[in-house]
Order: sequence, then C-alpha cells, then structure tokens
Amino acid sequence: MTENLNPFAIAQAQLDEAAKVLGLDPDMHAFLRRPQREFHFNIPVKMDDGSTKTFQGFRVQYSDARGPAKGGIRFHPDETIDTVRALAAWMTWKTAVADIPLGGGKGGVICNPREMSPGELERLSRGYMRNIARYVGLFQDSPAPDVNTHPQIMAWMLDEYETIMGHREPGAITGKPLPLGGSAGRGPATALGGMFTIREAAKVVGLELKGATAAIQGFGNVGSFATKLAQEVLGIKVVAVSDEFGGIYSANGLDYYAINEHLANTGKVIDMPGTQPISNKDLLELEVDILIPAAIENQLTAQNADNIKAKIIAELANGPTTPEADDVFEAKGIYVIPDFLCNAGGVTVSYFEMVQNAYQYYWTEQMVNERLDHKMTTAFHAVHTMAQEKKVYTRVAAYLVSVSRVAEAVRLRGWV
Ligand code: NAD
Repeated sequence: MTENLNPFAIAQAQLDEAAKVLGLDPDMHAFLRRPQREFHFNIPVKMDDGSTKTFQGFRVQYSDARGPAKGGIRFHPDETIDTVRALAAWMTWKTAVADIPLGGGKGGVICNPREMSPGELERLSRGYMRNIARYVGLFQDSPAPDVNTHPQIMAWMLDEYETIMGHREPGAITGKPLPLGGSAGRGPATALGGMFTIREAAKVVGLELKGATAAIQGFGNVGSFATKLAQEVLGIKVVAVSDEFGGIYSANGLDYYAINEHLANTGKVIDMPGTQPISNKDLLELEVDILIPAAIENQLTAQNADNIKAKIIAELANGPTTPEADDVFEAKGIYVIPDFLCNAGGVTVSYFEMVQNAYQYYWTEQMVNERLDHKMTTAFHAVHTMAQEKKVYTRVAAYLVSVSRVAEAVRLRGWV
C-alpha cells in the first residue's frame, strides 16, 4: 500500500491514535477532527506589467476553545487547503502543549514569492488582509510569519488591518519588525526553543551534547538559527546542512557565519569552499547523533525510515515524519521530539509579543529567552512524563497532553 502523504489525513490519523489511547468521547473526537471554521478567498493583485493576477488565499481557524486562534501565513506555490488545515490543527496542539492561552489557526496563499517583486508582494499581503480583516485581530485570530513570509510582510498586513479598523492593535499580528512592536528574540525563538528540548532530550537518553554531531535539513529562518544555536548554546558539531538545492557536509563541523556569507553571495548553501556536496536524501541518513528536519513536510517516510541512524530526531519543521516512519522510529528506539513540541518556541515568543503589546512595555532578549526556556522545558517534561506513564511513543504522548487540554476547554464551554 502506498503511504498517504496528505498532511491533513496524517494530522487526523495522529489525532485518531491519541483519541484511542485517551478513550476520548466519540462526540468530542468528531468535533476535534475538523476545523471550527475556514475562509477561502480570491485576492486580485495588480502586477508590475499592468495585468491583474488572481491568487487563492486561505485562513483556517482550527480551534479557539483555549483562546484566540494563532498561526502563521505561508506563501507557497504548492500550498493546498489540506496543508493549511493540517498546520492549523498542529498549531492547536502546539499552543496547548506549550500551555499558552491561545488556539490554533493557519493561513496560506498559492503563489511563488520568488517570482514576485516587492511591490507585488506588498499588494498581495495587503489584499490578503483585506479579505480576512473582519475575522482576525487580537481577540479573534492573530497571524504570524511562516514559510516565505517575513517581518516586512507582517508589517504590511498589520498596517492594512489597522487602517481598516481605524485604530492601533499591534497584537493583531506577531513576528512584526521591532519598531512596530515586535519582540526581542522572536527571530531565533523557534530554533532556540528547539535547542531547549534537545538539551532535555539528551539528558533523558543519556547523550553528552558537547561534541555530539547533528545534521540539519533546511537553512531558512529556523534551520539557519538552529545551525548557529546548536553550536553556540549546546556545543553540538553541525556536520551537514542543506536547502532545497542540496546540502554540504564537513566531518570537522560547519561554520554558521561562513555558510551565511556564502549564501548571501550565491543564494544557495551548495559549493561552499571546504565542504563536500551531499544530497538531501543522504543528509537525512547520515551517521549523526541528532537529526533536525527544518524544511518541509514528509521528509521521513516509509522509504527512508529504516536508514535513519540518529539517536534523537528534533522536528523543527512541521509534519516532517509520516505515521509509517513513526512506527519504524518507535521500534528502533529513536527519541523523537515531535514537531508541535519541538518547534513551539516560535508561537511561545509570539505570545510573549502579544503580552508585551498589550502592556506597551517591552522585555529584554534575555528576559524573553529565560521565559522561553521555562515554557519549553516544562512542556518537554509534561510530554516525556506522559510517554513514560502511559508507555506510549513521544508523539502520542504530546497529543495526549494537548488533546486533553483542548477537550477540557471545549467541555467547559459547553460545546460538546
Ligand atoms: P523558510 O522558508 O525560511 O526556510 C525553509 C528552508 O527549507 C529553506 O532553506 C529552503 O531552501 C528549504 N527547503 C525547502 N524545500 C526543501 C526540500 N524539498 N528539501 C530541503 N530543503 C528544502 O521557512 P522556515 O520559517 O525556516 O520554516 C521551516 C519549517 O519550520 C517549516 O516546516 C515551518 O512550518 C516550520 N516552523 C517555522 C516556524 C517559524 O517561526 N518560522 C515556527 C514553527 C515551525
């Protein structure tokens, strides 16, 4: 049988497994299996050549039971409504596992931002916001950056939102530039949060991190900060990194600053002097202590799971592992830090950003990082303890923690 790689089918299958272990009430299970609401819309954009191109946009508010929905917006040519639904579901479980008072949402636009000018991107971003302005905001749903969307895009969207609403409401969007109310530490937050979970996982599996090796797939926002912080915070030697064009390997370890300089000059990590080329496929199968997928979904599948040699898989990407691969990793005893736990640092600091916006009082990066460490460490141990108590795989344990928290809020509201 071929693997089903539809991300929403995978998200639902993961929930189904947790529901079984949890003995979740069937009515509650049915309610949690689908998004609460979703928006589909057309965004007409005046292109630089005078034509008008229509882009398809989505916003899914999977759950606002525990608080306003929260989640990023992706600009991607392969975006689908099912990808957005899956990511919105994972945001719901993520805010619950991190125990922050928010729900889960996600947005997307089918477009190729690499082929668009800054002016076209600005008009697309403002057009996206015009479609959803009435349905988002501090108390409804607060968007943030994700793949191919960055602080400038958040600034355009926030400006459009505030112009429509007629007041300033910085917490309506997070991941903003600092002068518009962004939080110190938001840039590296996802990767740094992941490092805190790797530190805790290493303690429970008995892995000495000083000099341990890691391979990182993806050298975007998350993967590049992960490369830097793995070395600087945990003393890990990063021997391989990659982007969509291919990867580089050095047994002696790669220098983050040199890769960044090479990337700035060439637009790719491959062909960096002093390194060997490596394919994305081979990178995942390297003999390393820690494997960090930080790119896109469905990278660890039934095809390659048997060949993975890492002791810890830290899923900074969303949905990098299929259920079939999970079965293999569980059987092999690989310690997986599941995505919505491992990469919860981003949304946690986004939440800190909303708190700072509400008070109009801003914290230092050190304060942000200390509070992030506390949240991530607490979340990690809630999941690890659950895995031990119930004798279940870490991903199932993470679902048990978060689904029971969301279900409790749904019950208390009297919805189910
Ligand atoms: P990004 O667009 O900044 O970077 C993505 C990286 O992955 C790029 O280096 C790209 O070249 C690479 N890539 C794309 N396709 C690839 C492929 N087929 N093989 C190998 N590499 C490939 O995005 P990002 O913000 O760094 O997000 C990466 C992952 O982390 C996504 O799964 C995202 O949902 C997740 N995530 C991001 C955040 C955040 O705060 N940015 C938070 C939580 C989770």
